[in-house]
Amino acid sequence: MSKSVLLLPGDGIGQEIMAEAVKVLDWLGTQGMCDLKFREALLGGCAYDQVGTPLPEETVTRALESDAVLLGAVGGVQWESLDYAVRPERGLLGIRKAMDVYCNLRPAQVFPQLADASTLKPEVVSGIDIMVVRELSSDIYFGQPRGVSTLPDGRQVGINTLYYTTDEIERVARRAFGIARLRQKRLCSVDKANVLEATELWRNVVTAIGQAEFPDVALSHMYVDNAAMQLIRNPRQFDVMLTTNMFGDILSDEASMLTGSIGMLPSASLGDRGALYEPIHGSAPDIAGKGIANPLAMILSVAMMFRYTLGQSDVAARIERAVQRVLDAGLRTADIMQPGKEKVGTAAMGSAVVAALGE
Ligand code: NAD
Repeated sequence: MSKSVLLLPGDGIGQEIMAEAVKVLDWLGTQGMCDLKFREALLGGCAYDQVGTPLPEETVTRALESDAVLLGAVGGVQWESLDYAVRPERGLLGIRKAMDVYCNLRPAQVFPQLADASTLKPEVVSGIDIMVVRELSSDIYFGQPRGVSTLPDGRQVGINTLYYTTDEIERVARRAFGIARLRQKRLCSVDKANVLEATELWRNVVTAIGQAEFPDVALSHMYVDNAAMQLIRNPRQFDVMLTTNMFGDILSDEASMLTGSIGMLPSASLGDRGALYEPIHGSAPDIAGKGIANPLAMILSVAMMFRYTLGQSDVAARIERAVQRVLDAGLRTADIMQPGKEKVGTAAMGSAVVAALGE
């Protein structure tokens, strides 16, 4: 039965890289490798310009009707003076919330061809293949009470609440264990259980899920301060890293920057009813419209969609192999350009991936 995919190109380079993802999807469709129905909708600054809100009701409805959503990027300098409530980024947070996507996957993978793009030594980063699984819908970002108030003695106090319920921990832990099962079967859960009771609960619940349901996955625990250090010291020790919303916010950026190439990294945000796939980078206003953006993070987000929503790991692997082939052939967009390689624009890179899909 055919599945439905909603395309949200968004703003800036989002439009340009989405066009290349569509080329890949069209090719797979004509080869009979997928049976997908596409719709498109507005999100972000372009939505504000056309209908006065960054997240139109129709976009939410279509997203909830779809099996998966592919998102380019939102934002741009022309919308920076708008009220926060109608900024493009509010559209992004709004769609994630509406879809109740609670499990964020951020792979940090070093492509051997680009190992010298990292700020760390190639011998430290080469071979890195980490999947950071970040809880996305709870924790200190949503816990109550929160806010800034004034004490009777006149001092101000700021409060945020680290909040987790067992079911919130269980559902993301199950996802992370399931992903570890598809990889090297090693899961490191990151917390601060030595000082934060809520993350002691996190540790206990993750341990219980592992023992009861995933005895074949090797579970370890690490305090967040040590995890931040180990990611720099010896990143290859990690396979899947599971962590809370706030710790994951920080650690996933740290892990992805080990690779040195923001234009290469995809992400997925999974819920029980739908999933959102997007590159980790933004709308890159500095290069938008120039046809030089790297479309590979967007194309690799399509691969993640095949693996995690469509259940077609073979197609996901085919896309990932095609990306490897174009890198092996020496093609580079400006952001990953190296001496002696061939510089290409967004469309040429997308076409090269399509050509490599059939090889
Ligand atoms: P950014 O990721 O857009 O750009 C950072 C730098 O990386 C820029 O120099 C840019 O040219 C480069 N870059 C990013 N993606 C690239 C690609 N695919 N190919 C080549 N180079 C690439 O981050 P920023 O500049 O901090 O933010 C720009 C806008 O994007 C802001 O409005 C911000 O709010 C928004 N943003 C959106 C998302 C999202 O939609 N998920 C994420 C982050 C930022």
